Amino acid sequence: MNSTECKRCGTCCKKGGPSFHIEDRALIEDGYIPAKYFYTIREGEPVRDNITERVVYAPSDIIKIKGQKTGWTCFFYDETEKRCAVYEYRPLECKLLNCRDTSVIERVFGKNLLTRKEIMGSVGGLWELIVEHDNRCSYREIKKLADEPGNTKKRGLYQKVAEIIEYDKTVRELVVEKGRIDSDLLDLLFGRPVSSIINHFTETF
Ligand code: SF4
Repeated sequence: MNSTECKRCGTCCKKGGPSFHIEDRALIEDGYIPAKYFYTIREGEPVRDNITERVVYAPSDIIKIKGQKTGWTCFFYDETEKRCAVYEYRPLECKLLNCRDTSVIERVFGKNLLTRKEIMGSVGGLWELIVEHDNRCSYREIKKLADEPGNTKKRGLYQKVAEIIEYDKTVRELVVEKGRIDSDLLDLLFGRPVSSIINHFTETF
């Protein structure tokens, strides 16, 4: 084994699943990795930049593989066997990542990211609902409200955020109950529940 060869220690896979790029589109569309194992980080959502280790706000959708029950370990990492359960179909970032020389992955990091529009933009009805949900639950708007000086304690802010959380919850319930959509797909369709993200903007909520 040479010094740059992967030793399968699993450290990379335990830091969280990869972000999907346009080149990975077929992996989802053709079902090599089932859609229920993905989630979306929505535009404006706070996210940790794995290279700078700082919190940044997502510039667009970032589609990722879900973690295991606790922690960030990629859902497909098999700790016992120390192997990737979808190795043959692993996405671009996993193919390019070399922990001893990150220069290659850094060249693609954050570029040509796959978004929900590429996967679901042509699904009439559902896509319109996703766009409507994005508009009404915009993280950019939430950040603007949270950043307003002296406003964080104002009643209006609490009310607005409460409305957004309620709308987000209602949409999720409706698509499962009336649309008969698998609840495991919700985090891909609408991102993670707003109620689970809101504290990242300000501790006030
Ligand atoms: S898809 Fe496979 S190689 Fe990529 S992070 Fe998950 S377990 Fe690791």
